[in-house]
Amino acid sequence: MDDGWTSLTELNSYRVEAYAACCLFPATVEELREAMRPAAGQAVHMLGHGCNVILASKYYDARHRFVCTRRLEPGIVVDGREVRAGAGARLRDVCRAAARAGLTGLECLWDIPGSVGGAAFMNAGAYGTSFYDGVVSVEAYEPGADRLRTLSRQDCRPAYRTTAFQGTDAVIVSVRLRLAPGDRAAILAEMGRIGKLRRSKLPYDLPSAGSVFRRPEGAPPVGVIMEEAGLKGFRIGGAQISPRHGGIIVNAGGATGEDILAVITKMHEVMLCYYNTVPKLEQIII
Ligand SMILES: Cc1cc2nc3c(=O)[nH]c(=O)nc-3n(C[C@H](O)[C@H](O)[C@H](O)COP(=O)(O)OP(=O)(O)OC[C@H]3O[C@@H](n4cnc5c(N)ncnc54)[C@H](O)[C@@H]3O)c2cc1C
Repeated sequence: MDDGWTSLTELNSYRVEAYAACCLFPATVEELREAMRPAAGQAVHMLGHGCNVILASKYYDARHRFVCTRRLEPGIVVDGREVRAGAGARLRDVCRAAARAGLTGLECLWDIPGSVGGAAFMNAGAYGTSFYDGVVSVEAYEPGADRLRTLSRQDCRPAYRTTAFQGTDAVIVSVRLRLAPGDRAAILAEMGRIGKLRRSKLPYDLPSAGSVFRRPEGAPPVGVIMEEAGLKGFRIGGAQISPRHGGIIVNAGGATGEDILAVITKMHEVMLCYYNTVPKLEQIII
């Protein structure tokens, strides 16, 4: 599409077709400061690598401003036991850099798609490890005060898929991790094992944004419930509950944000009916 609209299709891992009238890609803190000054009445939407978002609309007009941090300080520097990674760096590249330097602690995070900014916002995790397990501090830009602030791990209040950044307009700029020394070959072997495990369970063959819901309390995992309810493969439009993993919605072809939200509504109904609970969405609706 032309006319100054930016395609968001390659910027969201569901590959939902969508367009924004205003989408900025700051590469430096100075550019970020400019980007975070929206026009009056404009809503700002942060986007990292778009692996945990649902774009509910096809067109986002000038009332919306997407600020995409995929190019923001993408460098990764390893210094002794410390790794400093910019918000735009891929989490996968951070895991790889740590492994090559013989640093252990990130193996279980291997192959989680997305950026360091997104991982620090969501407290991404898998197989008992969370991103914040290794975090020493996070540098964030606060638009209201127009300042860069360094937050300690405690300041970030990490818990299961939540952090203090959620519900604020702070932008994560970089993260400092401290890891333990380990055996390089063993670390790489463990990453290989994790990678194979993930690929055997998750539908990497079709566009998705990973688990739709947070783990419910007092109920089995959502994927198990969907399987019990016979809903694996359930489809509305192009959005389908993955036939491989009942907790994940895939874009089986031409899915719109509306299709995805309609499948989520169905999953809600099933959860209510079977377990009288509605789990929290893990994905962010924009
Ligand atoms: C196949 C697949 C498997 C997945 N498996 C897992 C898994 O095992 N564990 C897991 O935890 N997640 C998983 N996910 C979800 C996703 O990978 C993570 O949530 C990831 O951390 C999102 O990073 P992102 O850069 O794509 O963030 P985005 O999706 O772009 O953004 C997510 C949220 O973070 C905010 N954000 C992003 N960058 C910044 C920034 N610099 N400053 C402030 N806010 C920011 C956005 O505003 C948004 O609210 C999976 C996704 C896919 C597609």
